[in-house]
Amino acid sequence: MAGIVCVVTTVLFGMSQGLSTARTYPPNQVTLLDSRSVQGELAWVASPTEGGWEEVSIMDDKNVPIRTYQVCNVMEPNQNNWLRTHWIRRREAQRVFVEIKFTLRDCNSLPWVSATCKETFNLFYHESDVDGERSIRESQFAKIDTVAADESFTQMDIGDRIMKLNTETRDVGVLTRKGFYLAFQDVGACIALVSVRVFYKKCPLAVRNLAQFPDTVTGADTSSLVEVRGSCVNNSEEYEIPKMYCGADGGWLVPIGSCLCKPGYEERNGECQVCKIGYYRSLASAGGCSKCPEHSYSVREGSTSCSCDKGFYRSETDPPAMACTRPPSAPLNLISNVNETSVLLEWSPPLISGGRQDLAYNVVCKRCGWECELCGDSVRYSPQRLSLRSPRVSVHQLQAHTNYTFEIWAVNGVSKHNPGPEQAVSVTLTTNQAAPSVVPSLQCKDITRHTLSLFWPEPQNPNGVILEYEVKYYEKEQSERSYRIVKTASRSVDIKDLTPLTSYVFHVRARTAAGYGEFSASYEFMTNSMPSPVMGEGVKSTVLLASILGSVVLLLILTGAFIISKRRGKYSKAKQDSEEEKHLQSVGKVYVDPFTYEDPNQAVREFAKEIDASCIKIEKVIGIGEFGEVCSGRLRLSGKREQCVAIKTLKAGFTEEQRRDFLSEASVMGQFDHPNIIHLEGVVTKCKPVMIVSEYMENGSLDAFLRKNDGRFTVIQLVGMQRGIASGMKYLSDMSYVHRDLAARNILVNSNLVCKVSDFGMSRVLEDEPEGTYTTRGGKIPIRWTAPEAIAYRKFTSASDVWSYGIVMWEVMSYGERPYWDMSNQDVIKAVEEGYRLPGPMECPVSLHQLMLDCWQRERADRPKFSQIVNMLDKLIRHPATLKRTSRETSRPHASTLSPSPLNVCTASLGSVEEWLKTVGLERYRDNFTNAGFQNLENVVHIKQEEMTKMGISSSSHQRKILASIRELLSEMQHVPGRTVPV
Ligand code: AMP
Repeated sequence: MAGIVCVVTTVLFGMSQGLSTARTYPPNQVTLLDSRSVQGELAWVASPTEGGWEEVSIMDDKNVPIRTYQVCNVMEPNQNNWLRTHWIRRREAQRVFVEIKFTLRDCNSLPWVSATCKETFNLFYHESDVDGERSIRESQFAKIDTVAADESFTQMDIGDRIMKLNTETRDVGVLTRKGFYLAFQDVGACIALVSVRVFYKKCPLAVRNLAQFPDTVTGADTSSLVEVRGSCVNNSEEYEIPKMYCGADGGWLVPIGSCLCKPGYEERNGECQVCKIGYYRSLASAGGCSKCPEHSYSVREGSTSCSCDKGFYRSETDPPAMACTRPPSAPLNLISNVNETSVLLEWSPPLISGGRQDLAYNVVCKRCGWECELCGDSVRYSPQRLSLRSPRVSVHQLQAHTNYTFEIWAVNGVSKHNPGPEQAVSVTLTTNQAAPSVVPSLQCKDITRHTLSLFWPEPQNPNGVILEYEVKYYEKEQSERSYRIVKTASRSVDIKDLTPLTSYVFHVRARTAAGYGEFSASYEFMTNSMPSPVMGEGVKSTVLLASILGSVVLLLILTGAFIISKRRGKYSKAKQDSEEEKHLQSVGKVYVDPFTYEDPNQAVREFAKEIDASCIKIEKVIGIGEFGEVCSGRLRLSGKREQCVAIKTLKAGFTEEQRRDFLSEASVMGQFDHPNIIHLEGVVTKCKPVMIVSEYMENGSLDAFLRKNDGRFTVIQLVGMQRGIASGMKYLSDMSYVHRDLAARNILVNSNLVCKVSDFGMSRVLEDEPEGTYTTRGGKIPIRWTAPEAIAYRKFTSASDVWSYGIVMWEVMSYGERPYWDMSNQDVIKAVEEGYRLPGPMECPVSLHQLMLDCWQRERADRPKFSQIVNMLDKLIRHPATLKRTSRETSRPHASTLSPSPLNVCTASLGSVEEWLKTVGLERYRDNFTNAGFQNLENVVHIKQEEMTKMGISSSSHQRKILASIRELLSEMQHVPGRTVPV
C-alpha cells in the first residue's frame, strides 16, 4: 500500500514539468476557485481524516509549489473516502462549471489488486448559504457525475516519466443558494487531484454597431439566451434599439438594431470621432465626414454643415453636400417683335448661371403713359409669365397704340438672397393699330314667322371706338355664298322678311378705325309658324352635334364596359389557369442535386437570388437552427411591398464545408415553386452573416403549433392541413425529390393555417436530425417516421416519404402526440416489423385511419401515391359525412391492414390490468389502478378521463394513450366469440 502511494507521488513529480502556476483564463470565464493559485495549504476536509485523501505539495515547472490531493487504497475493499472543499461563494452565477485535472492509475497494471482497484471517482455538491458548515452528511450531497479517466498511467509510464494528465469539466446545474461545497468520493481508485478550478461563464463586454453591451452572466439553462440592451457609445445616438443575446456558452449572438454617430462625428475603429476643420457630417445616417463643398468652409471641429463664402448662398432645398451658388447675371440680347397688340420677346441666356441648374426667367410688363404702371391681368403670356425655361415669351392682348416696357429677369434658387438690377434686361416699345377682337356670343330675343331679333356683347378688345357691327346670315339649307348683310351701330338688330319655319345661320363682326375684326362663330336660329314672338336662344350647331355625339359615346362606353367586363372575367380565368399550368409544368421538371455541381456555389447562383443585406431588417430571434439562429424580420426589395421573412443565419467561424452545406438548402428550396412548399426569397452570400431568406410562417412548426392548440380544430380543418402537405409532397415527388425527413416538426404553418413542407438541408439527413438515430449501417434516421425498408437498407423513395406522410397524418389527428409514445426506437422497429401499426387517434375518422394504414403497407408498391392521397382527401373534404364515423365506433379494421399488435395479443387473452399496463408501457400506474378498485380489464374499459385525473394520472398524453388502448381493447373484445361487451 505504502509502495503504491509512493508510485503516485513519483508520477506527480515527473508530471510537474507540464504544470505552471501562471494561469490565464478565457475572457468569458470568471473563476470562483482555483486550487493552483491558493498559497499555502488548501486544508480541505477529508473523511476519514487518516488513510483517505491526503494533501501533497508538488512543484510546477517554475518550481512554485502546487497543492494536490491523492488517495490510493486500491488493495482494500469497500473504500469510501470523501474530500470536500471549502464553501465556495456563488456570486452572480446561475450555472457553475468544475474543471478537474487528475491522474489515475490503470488497474490492469496492478493485477494483484484487480478485485478492489477502481478507475473512477464521484463528484458531488451541496448548496448552502453558510460558510463553514461543520459536518455535512453524505446524503446531503447531490451527485454531479461519476468521473472516469480518458488516460490512466501504468508502471511503465512512471519509468518513462510520461505525463498522463486528464482534464474533465462538469457543470453543476442551476444554483440558487449563496454558495456551495464540492466533494470528491473515492471508492478505491489510485488518484491524484492535480487541480480543481470552479468557474462560471459570462459574455464579456462588447461593442457592436456602436452599441456597448456590458459583461453579462449567462442564463441558467444550457439553451437560454439572455437578452441584453446595449447603450450607444459616446457621441452616437440610437437608430434602432440595440439588442444582443448572451448565449449559454458565454458568446454573444446576432446583434439587432444599432447606433449611429451623431452629425459632426464619424465612425472610426468602433468609436465616433469628431469631423476635422474643413470637414462636416450633416446626418447620423450619412457616411463619413466630408470635405466642405466648393465655395464653403467650416471653422470648428464637429461641424454639421459648412458656411457659404461671401456672395454665395444655399437654397432651403439644397443638400449640404452641394456647392454654394450665386444668382445669375442678366439675360443678353433681348429683342422684341411687335404685331399689332402682341409682342414676341426673345433673348440669350446670361453669361453667369451662378453654378446651378435651376435657371429660369420672369417677365415684368409695365404700361407707360406719363408714368409707368404694372400691366393688369388682362394681358396674356404664352407659355407663362414666371419661371420660363426657354428664352422667349409672347405677350398678347396689349392695348393698341400704347407704350410698354418689358423686363426679363434671370433667376435661380438663390436669387432671393441678393436680387439686383444686374440680373435683368429690359426693352421699351409701342404697340400698333389693331382691329377689334371677335364678338364672343350672339343671342335671339324674339322669334316670329318672319323676324328674328338678335343682340350681342361688345368684343373683349375693341382696340378703339367701334363704328359699326356687320351681321351676315343665310338659310341653313342654302349655300353660304348666298348670304345677306345687315349693318348697325348698336349691339342689336331685327332681321326681317324671313321664311317661316326655316333655320338661318348668323355671324357678326365689329369695325373700328383700324378696320373690321374677325367674324364670330356661327349661330343658328329658326323662324316660327306662329305670328306671335317666341323667346329663343341661339344654339350652336356644334352643341347639337355634341349632344348627339354624347349619346352615341355613352352608348359606346356602356357597350365597351360590357365587353371589357366579359373579357376580364375571361382573363382572370386565364390567369388562374396559367397558375395551375405553372404547377403542372413542373411535372417533368426534375430536381437537381446541388452536390452534383463541381462548384456547389454555382448551384446557389443558379437557383437562389442574391439579396442586398441592406434590404433586410432583422427583428428578433425565433429559433436555433443547425448552423445558427433563425430570426424573423422584414425584406424590402425595390419596387416590391415590404414583407415579413424568416432569416436563417450562418454563425461566425464556419468552415467552407459548413457554408456549402448551409447554402445547399437554398439551392434545393430555390428549385421549388408551390403553395405548399416553403418559398425561398433569396440569399445573402456577399457579406456576413451569410443568410437564407424565406417566407415567414407566423405559426412556426406544425408539431408545436398543434400541441399548443390541442382539440381546437374541426376535423375538416385538420384534413385541410393534411391535404396541403400531401399536395406539396406530390409536387416534390413529381420532381423526383425524396424528402427523407417528412415529419410534423418539418412542416411550417402560416397565419391562414396553410401548411408548407420545409427543411431541405442536405446535412440534416445524416447529421442534424433531432430525432435521428444512428443505424447499424451508419447515418442518422428518424426511426419513428421512417419506412422499414429505409431503416433496413436505406431504400429512400417517394414511397418511403408516403410512409412518413402517414405518420404526419397521425401526428395531425392526435394534435402533436409523439408517434409510438415513449416506446424505445428498438421497440418501435420490432413492433412495426411484427406488424403493429399505430391505432387511430381519439376522434379520428375511420376513413383517415384507413388511409394512414394504407401508407404503412409493408410492401412499398402497395402504398398509395401522393396524387392518390390528394384525390382521396379531396373526396373526403367534399363529402364530410364520410368523416363522421370515428374510431370510437369503428369495428375492427381490415385484417390485412391491422396486423396483431402487442395490444391485440394482450386483449385477445384478456390478461390482468397489470399485464395490460405493461404492454402499453405504463406499468408505473399499476398501484393507481389497484387502489381505485380496478381489478380486471372488463372494469377498466369503462374508465373516463376525469377518473384518471382523480386517480393521480395527470399526464394528458398518458391519459390519451390509455383511452386509445381501451378503444382497441373494445374493438378486440367485440370480435372474441361468445363475449359481449357493453360499448
Ligand atoms: P430549422 O433550422 O429549419 O429547423 O429552423 C429552426 C426553427 O426556426 C423552426 O423549428 C421554426 O420554429 C423556425 N423557423 C424556420 N423557418 C421558419 C419560417 N420560414 N417561418 C417561421 N419560423 C421558421
